[in-house]
Amino acid sequence: MKKIVSLSKRRGFVYPGSQIYGGLANTWDYGPLGTMLMKNIRDSWWTLFITQRRDMFPLDSGILMSPRVWEASGHTSTFNDMLIDCRNCKLRTRADHLIEEHFEEKKEEIKVEGLSSQDLADIIQNHGIVCPKCKKIDWTAPRAFNLLFETNIGIVPENQSKAYLRGETAQGIFVNFKQVVESMRPKLPFGIGQIGKSFRNEITKGNFVFRTLEFEQAEIEYFFDPEQDDWRKLFNSWKDKMQTFVVDELGIDKAKLRWRKHTDDERSHYSRHTEDLDYKFPFGYKELWGIAYRTDFDLKQHMEESGQDLRYLDPQTNKKLVPHVIEPAVGVNRLFLMVLVDAYTEEEKRTVLKLKPSLAPYVAAIFPLLGNKPELKEKAKAIYDKLQKYFSVTIDERGNIGKRYFAQDEIGTPLCITVDFETLTDGAVTIRERDTMAQSRVAIDKIVDYINDIL
Ligand code: ATP
Repeated sequence: MKKIVSLSKRRGFVYPGSQIYGGLANTWDYGPLGTMLMKNIRDSWWTLFITQRRDMFPLDSGILMSPRVWEASGHTSTFNDMLIDCRNCKLRTRADHLIEEHFEEKKEEIKVEGLSSQDLADIIQNHGIVCPKCKKIDWTAPRAFNLLFETNIGIVPENQSKAYLRGETAQGIFVNFKQVVESMRPKLPFGIGQIGKSFRNEITKGNFVFRTLEFEQAEIEYFFDPEQDDWRKLFNSWKDKMQTFVVDELGIDKAKLRWRKHTDDERSHYSRHTEDLDYKFPFGYKELWGIAYRTDFDLKQHMEESGQDLRYLDPQTNKKLVPHVIEPAVGVNRLFLMVLVDAYTEEEKRTVLKLKPSLAPYVAAIFPLLGNKPELKEKAKAIYDKLQKYFSVTIDERGNIGKRYFAQDEIGTPLCITVDFETLTDGAVTIRERDTMAQSRVAIDKIVDYINDIL
C-alpha cells in the first residue's frame, strides 16, 4: 500500500487533502491522472448499467434533501458506529475494529457485526484488549455515534434549519420514484441509477481511499413486482452483472474476488438478504460492492412519512403495488483503489501499472525521438493533434527515450509512439506496447485503427 500511495502522489493520481495546511485526516484529492482514471471507471459503469440498457433510467438527485428523508429511511436512528475512547491517551476508535484487530493479530477470526454495545464491551473486557496506542486498559463504554454529517440551511443563525449531507445516494432515488414513474412511464421491472457524492462521519483505519468521509457512490435501485418476478433470480442475475463488470470491464483478476453473505446479525435493518463482493486488498478481503434485497421497505417508509401514495399502477392489469427493490451499491473510489492495486506490477527494471487500456489516463504517449530536433517535434505535434480528437493522449519530449518509456509504464499508458528520422521519409512510427515492450512499425494513417484495436 505504501508504494501505491507514494506512486499516486508522485505521479498525480491522488494527493493528501488540504496538504498545505498540514492535511485533514481521511480526505484525499484526485490529481490530473487520478481524475482521468476515475472518470474512465465511472463512464464504464455508466455505459454498461445505464446507456446500454433499455430498462435503466439515470438520475442526479441533490446532496441536500429534507431531513425527513433520513427520519423515514431510519438513518437518523440506526446509522451508527460504536465508538470507544481510551481515557488515558484519548485515542478514539471503532469498538468493532479494535476487537477485529486484536483477533487478527492472534490469527483468529471473530464476528462482531451487529453486536450490541454491551456485547462489544464484554469482549473487550474478557479478552483484556489493550489500547493499541498507549497499551493501557482504560476504556470508556462503547457508544453509538451517528454517521450522518449535519449542516445548517439558512444564513441568519435564528432562522437556520438542520439538514444532512446525504449518507447514501439511494434515498434520492426513492424520493424521486413517483416523479420518474410519472414522467417516464417505465414498465416494471426497471431500474434507476445514479452516481454522486455521499458523506459519512466515519472513523477509519486509514487505508488510503478505501474508507473516507466523502466518497462517490454508484447505486442502482431495481424495482420489480414480487408476484411477477422471483427476487432470487433477479438477485443472482445482478450478481453476475456486477462480477462481469469487475472482471471484463475493469480487467480485475477473478481469483482475488469472493462473494460473502451477510449474517442475520450484521444485515442492515432494511434488507432481507445482502451479499458483498469482496476484493483481496493488501489489507485483506474487504467489501467492494454490496447487493441488498431491500424489499418495499424504503418506499413504504417514505409513503408513511410523506403521506403520499408512491404505489405503481400497472397499466396492463390496473393493479396498484409498492414495488420491491434490489440494490447493487458500490463506491467508485473503492473501484479506483482496486484497479490501482490490481494493476500495480513490479518487474526487475520497472514499475508498470497494467491498467486495462480503456481505463488508462492516456491511451498513448507520443515522443519525438530527440526533443531538440524541430522537424521531429513538429511531426510528433501533428500526430498528437490528430489523435487527441479521438483519444486521451499525451506528448513527451524530455530526457532519453528509455526514461520516457518507464515514466509512461508507471502511469499505465498502453502505447508509446515514437517519431524518428525515418518517419520523415517512410511516414511510419514505432509503436511500443506497455506490457510486452514489443515494438512494431505502423503507418501514421493506421495509428487510429491500431489504438481502436487495443481498446
Ligand atoms: P462498509 O461495510 O465498508 O462500511 P457499507 O456496507 O456501509 O460499507 P453501503 O452502505 O452498502 O456500505 O454502501 C455501498 C458501497 O459504498 C460500499 O460497498 C462501498 O463500496 C462504498 N462505501 C461505503 N462507505 C464508504 C466510505 N466511507 N468510503 C468509501 N466508500 C464507501
